[in-house]
Amino acid sequence: MTHLYRPAVPARDAKPTPDPSTEGNASPWQQPVTTLWGVGPERAQQLARLGIRTVEDLLLHRPRRYEDRRKFLPIRQLEKGVAATVRGTVVAAGMKRWRQGTRSMFECILEDGSGRLHCRWWQGYPWMEEYYTVGREFMVFGKVEPLKPRTVDHPEVEPIEAGEDEFIHVNRIVPIHPLTEGLTARVMRGLVWRALEKHERDIAEMFGAPPSGGQGGGPAAAGTPNLPTRAQAMRLLHFPNELMEAEVARRRLALDEFIELQRGVLERRKKFEANAKSLPCGGDNRLIKPLLSQLGFKLTAAQTRVLREIREDLRAAHPMRRLLQGDVGSGKTAVAACAALMTIESGYSVALMAPTEILAEQHFQNFQRWLESLGVAVQLQTGAKKTFNIEHSTSDTQGRRATQPETRNRKPATLTIGTHALLTGGFELPNLGLVIIDEQHKFGTAQRETLVRKGSYPHLLVMTATPIPRTLGLTLYGDLDISTIDAMPAGRGRVRTFVRLANALPKVWDFIRQKLEQGRQAYVVYPRVDDDAGNVKAVVQELERVQRVLQPYRVGLLHGRLAPREKEAAMADFRANRTQVLLATSLIEVGVDVPNATVMLIENAELFGLAQLHQLRGRIGRGAHESFCVLVSNADGPEARTRLKVLEDTNDGFKIAEADLKLRGPGELLGQQQSGAARFRFGDLANDLDLIQLSRELVRENGLTLAAELSKPT
Ligand code: ADP
Ligand code: MG
Repeated sequence: MTHLYRPAVPARDAKPTPDPSTEGNASPWQQPVTTLWGVGPERAQQLARLGIRTVEDLLLHRPRRYEDRRKFLPIRQLEKGVAATVRGTVVAAGMKRWRQGTRSMFECILEDGSGRLHCRWWQGYPWMEEYYTVGREFMVFGKVEPLKPRTVDHPEVEPIEAGEDEFIHVNRIVPIHPLTEGLTARVMRGLVWRALEKHERDIAEMFGAPPSGGQGGGPAAAGTPNLPTRAQAMRLLHFPNELMEAEVARRRLALDEFIELQRGVLERRKKFEANAKSLPCGGDNRLIKPLLSQLGFKLTAAQTRVLREIREDLRAAHPMRRLLQGDVGSGKTAVAACAALMTIESGYSVALMAPTEILAEQHFQNFQRWLESLGVAVQLQTGAKKTFNIEHSTSDTQGRRATQPETRNRKPATLTIGTHALLTGGFELPNLGLVIIDEQHKFGTAQRETLVRKGSYPHLLVMTATPIPRTLGLTLYGDLDISTIDAMPAGRGRVRTFVRLANALPKVWDFIRQKLEQGRQAYVVYPRVDDDAGNVKAVVQELERVQRVLQPYRVGLLHGRLAPREKEAAMADFRANRTQVLLATSLIEVGVDVPNATVMLIENAELFGLAQLHQLRGRIGRGAHESFCVLVSNADGPEARTRLKVLEDTNDGFKIAEADLKLRGPGELLGQQQSGAARFRFGDLANDLDLIQLSRELVRENGLTLAAELSKPT
């Protein structure tokens, strides 16, 4: 089959290789920019610096902003501190030099009838004197300084030249593109304009078809209210009639990017399903039943529903690829335990990987308690601790599939819990039926795959407590099915959150002491990075302070620089209430579960992202008592306030993640996955949910072929 599809956005540094199957009628978009009038070797080099090699690259060079040059603001009406565009005629200009001519400054005064504007450049060049000549007219974009006379420093400037180009550069909304040395906004705009004109016939329908009219737009436009064709979008992106149209164009081009992404996802999935045959791991309930009766609580409806979804997957023809998401404290561990038991009932082993030793150890203790009474062996494998060694000779990778139905021939199914240590080369996991990854956002896809490859297409369950906004979920985890635990277990005490400034600390300590007197425990979180020795000293000093303030209560210390055994001891002491307060770094962010701890004080909270603070806060509110989270901020600015207030206002992890996404971009939420999704040129993960959904539907419903048609430049 020929490859019908050409990526909508060619990789920036890759020269597009002509597809031999379409060589004869190669798309005009793919011609090198040197086919355009006015692009010689030097221009081509400048353009290449911006990643522009073909006509299509040029037409997809996204303007960084737009200027409305239909009507100019009178200079007199310029407001201080507000960026605006004005036009005026040079009435005076000149260079000032000082320090024996080593320093210079150029100033030029424009006048438009309403007033005068001084433009200054704090590094003057001789060419300026010839450029800004009296009588010449310029457009100027910049922010007015709070000075008299009215002044802008280092404005963006463009000459107004009488002539045929007039309608490209003025009297319309114009694009300001990203530029490079030697290439001005005006030249770039002219190039884009000429490219659009030259290829007008190729994109003829862009003037005709109404956005959803079906002709030219094809199925994408038909299913896409108010989106233009790709060709229309290319023109509107650069030369919109109204600013709104530029946004409409952006959305159309973003849709193509999302389609491309989803197409990759579907392709991977198809390939996977063609190759991967599933191990039957649905179980027979003989272990789960006794587990449920000894858990000490009844599974919530949400947990039960999710387990049903998982069981169906474990019985299906293709291996499970499922993301289990649920807010902190929603009870994912119990679900993981049940999924593990289904697999073990079926005679296959399970591996569970967690990002920290503390969490792996905690899981180890819980699962040991739950499973060993059922006769299931539970093992631990971390960098620091290994409870077992597998004799390599007994694992038979080749023969495993052949003996599959007779589970009696195999070693008993076990559960292995560990950290990254599970990934170690020589470490084998024979008879692997299910891989569970906890707090998966702390791992990269490669690590996930390494673990999966220790088996022969085992099932995969990845869990995350970082609620991923739907946009990101659909994008990053498009190749996973998603189950959501959307309700908390009943009987949880409320968690109340307060934002305070550092000067309120004495009161906060009093409050914590009160809670300790009532028998509760507390976390004090200190925001220092774990791998800096100097900061460890700071944490230790902090420990002395907290001990002093809260005596006679006992304060434990936990940070990344401790030896594994010390970490474990600190956790064990806190869990057993031998210490009442745990002073910790953000190391405790993931997974730690001590229901009697109901107070959390987070110092320098402004240094954390919202999603991370929500994770930290998830350590409390795990028992029946009311819990309290105090965020102490050292930044008094309104920005930090607004951010932290989100946490005061809601406990809903999804809302918080959405807010974080809007405030800080996708970086933190993406965690290890970041690299994959940051590449969108037009797509906006924070705002394009509808487009992501649409792209997913289009690709799913229509399959690869049609999706390819949709995304092809018309
Ligand atoms: P997370 O989803 O953050 O991993 P955990 O699995 O650690 O949450 O569960 C948090 C706490 O809730 C644990 O103490 C766990 O024993 C308890 N828990 C889990 N499911 C239920 C339930 N159905 N009813 C009551 N408590 C539950
Ligand atoms: Mg957990």
